[in-house]
Amino acid sequence: MAEEKPKSLPTLREAPCPICSGMKFTWGITVGQSPNQRLYTRPDGLSWGEGRELRTRECNTCGNVQLFTVRYDRTEGQS
Ligand SMILES: [Zn+2]
Repeated sequence: MAEEKPKSLPTLREAPCPICSGMKFTWGITVGQSPNQRLYTRPDGLSWGEGRELRTRECNTCGNVQLFTVRYDRTEGQS
């Protein structure tokens, strides 16, 4: 059974920065000091290897960075 995406939420490209209301962003992934390091979120109760990779949205105006999982990644603006 596929998870349903919340249909009432705006796409992330339509949602302004919560700090400065900017609308221009740089999208990316998290990286560490080694090329393959990534940050993940792992809900309580799950074990190593479970969880979701975090993606980043950096505001081009104020530099605020927000983290999203693919689960809530609406960057493509599906309708
Ligand atoms: Zn901003």
